[in-house]
Order: sequence, then structure tokens, then C-alpha cells
Amino acid sequence: MKIPMVDLGLQYKELKTEIDKAITEVIEKSQFILGEKVAKLEEEIASFCQTRYAVGVSSGTEALHLALRACKIKPNDEVITTPFTFIATAEVITYIGAKPVFVDIDPKTYNIDVTKIEEKITEKTRAIIPVHLYGQASDLDKIGKLAKHHNLKIIEDCAQAFGATYKGKKVGSIGDAGCLSFFPSKNLGCFGDGGMVVTNSEEIAEEARLLRAHGSKKRYHHIKLGFNSRLDGIQAAILSVKLKYLERWNYKRYVSASYYNQLLAQLDVVIPYKADYGDHVFNQYTIMVKKRDRLQEWLSKKNIASAVHYPIPLHLQEAFKYLGYKEGSFPCSEEAARGVISLPIYPELTEKELDYICEAVKTFFIF
Ligand SMILES: *Cc1c(COP(=O)(O)O)cnc(C)c1O
Repeated sequence: MKIPMVDLGLQYKELKTEIDKAITEVIEKSQFILGEKVAKLEEEIASFCQTRYAVGVSSGTEALHLALRACKIKPNDEVITTPFTFIATAEVITYIGAKPVFVDIDPKTYNIDVTKIEEKITEKTRAIIPVHLYGQASDLDKIGKLAKHHNLKIIEDCAQAFGATYKGKKVGSIGDAGCLSFFPSKNLGCFGDGGMVVTNSEEIAEEARLLRAHGSKKRYHHIKLGFNSRLDGIQAAILSVKLKYLERWNYKRYVSASYYNQLLAQLDVVIPYKADYGDHVFNQYTIMVKKRDRLQEWLSKKNIASAVHYPIPLHLQEAFKYLGYKEGSFPCSEEAARGVISLPIYPELTEKELDYICEAVKTFFIF
């Protein structure tokens, strides 16, 4: 048996007729950039997330970037986020000349520790970017209270959590803006790069629309300076087909995660903590172990893929050296970076494959 982290080929095979037809329609109409298919997808995603607006952009990174700009973040402003995330979350803050300010994670959920945010708020703080890591929402009520009290914007990084809920609401619909990524390995992935900003604010939606298309509403009439951050018609067409299956796929991920939890429970591993405020959509199934690197080698010998999200927290990245953090600045993030390992999880994963993976993990702990 050989088990990859995700099997995008299997998913394509299942939907080949539908997807090929959708792509052909775009090609026949030559609507390659924005256009009907993007507008249709925006409506579908706004309806799925229960937000008033959705703006298709060229990646999850651009969704975050344009959301920050639409929230009027300016050079030298401070934006609070977690160091235990993909670099894009903090990188976009620097696109504007603003400063990322990190807050350590809650070691149970791996999401930003809401009890440590307030001490980092200064008169320069303008926004918080909670990351719903691995597919589980951050504690948005507590973040919302702080934001209200200090007049801060909340930009949700939903790249790994599309479809997850917080107290019955879809993530992305709770903060000022929510940012989705359609990178192929996300829960809803396209065949390249893609992303979306969802929001209930007309002002934010309008601004994101302007910024994604060189600051213009009407071709060659530029109201302001912007970017080329538009979503492709082909990607939107593929995403519209796949969106219909997202809830089913997320449910299958949840079933696989429960199966893993059961089979790994007796071992010396920390299984994912499930917060009681919402549904986890398991973009990753991530456990904590003591001899992480050796386990990864062991699995690889058995043809089982695994990954580390993430081996170096952002405050210790070379690129963020200028922020002046050091080893020990965020102990929970550092400990997670040393111990986490993500096992294969995707909707098409079978029980037989899950048994094989868990058996391999078990034998590692026995020998
Ligand atoms: C994937 C990801 C992004 C960036 O999305 P892209 O579409 O790859 O630009 C941002 N934040 C997190 C947490 C991610 O996992």
C-alpha cells in the first residue's frame, strides 16, 4: 500500500465529466479572467457562508492582502496574529508596511491564545488575524469582544477551514472579512491558485473588488492604484462544480478523523482537541508526538506520507528576524513545531488505508 497526503487524481476521476464540461464552457466563451463563472461562484460562496458579499481573487494570500487593505490598514500599523501558521498570514501584513505582532497559541487547539492578546494591543494596533488552523475555528467570541473594546478589525484566515463553523455560523462570516484559499490541497481546491474574500460589509467588498482589478470598475478608468489579483474563469467553473460536494467531503474528513482518534487513543500521542463551539473540518489531521522526526521516517519506510505543519514558527524564520523575537518568545508555538505531525486525510481515504496507517503508528510505539 502507498498512501499520499492527498489524492487529487481520485477526486478528479469521480467528477471528470462535470468538470471537463465546465472548463469547456469557459474556453468556448473565452471568459478567462473574472466573468460570468466568477460572478456565479461569488454568489454561491456568499450563500454558502451566509455573507452578503464574496469577491473572487487570485489566491488565499491575495484575499488576506486585499482584506487588510480594504480594512484600511496603513504603513506602521500593528496587526496581531499567531506565529504558528503558514507564512502568508503574516507576510501580507508586511505588503502594506504594517508590522506583524505575534501572540502565542493555545497548546490544545493550536490557535491564537485569546487570553494573551490584550497585553499585545498598543495604540498602533488596528487588526487581529485569527487563523482557523487545521480546520478548527479560533475562539471568535472572545476575539470579537477584544476587537470591539479596542476598535480593531478582525480578518479571519479561513484558508484551512472552509465550511467549519463557530457557534452555528460558518467561519468567515463572523469577522469583518473572511479569507478563503482554493489552493489544490485545501478542502475546496481548484486546479491552480485561487481565493476569495467574504464579508458583510459593502465597503470592504467594494474596495476588494477595486483593488483586485487595478483600481478600476470600468475598463481603463482607474479610481485608485491596485493590483492584478483576479480569479480565473476556469478556476471558478471548477470550484462551482466542487462546491456542491464540499459538505459531504468535510463530513468524510470528520469520519476519518474520528476513526483515527479511536485507533490512536491508547498510544503516547496527543490526538486533536475538539473545541465544543463548532465543527472541525480537518484540512489536516495533526497529532503531537515525542519522537516526531523518527516517526516520520518510519512512516515513510512504510510508504505512508506525512507532513509537518509547521516545523519553524514564524517568529524564528530568517525572514522575520527583523522583528526581534528569539527562541523562547512563544514556547507553545515552539513546542508544537517540534512535536506535530499531520497524517494523510482526504475524503477518498478508505477504512483499510486508515487501518494500515494506524497499525504503522502503533508498531512504531511498540519497537
Ligand atoms: C494556504 C494558506 C494560506 C495561503 O493561501 P494560498 O492560496 O496558498 O495563497 C494562508 N493561510 C493559511 C493558514 C494557509 O494554510
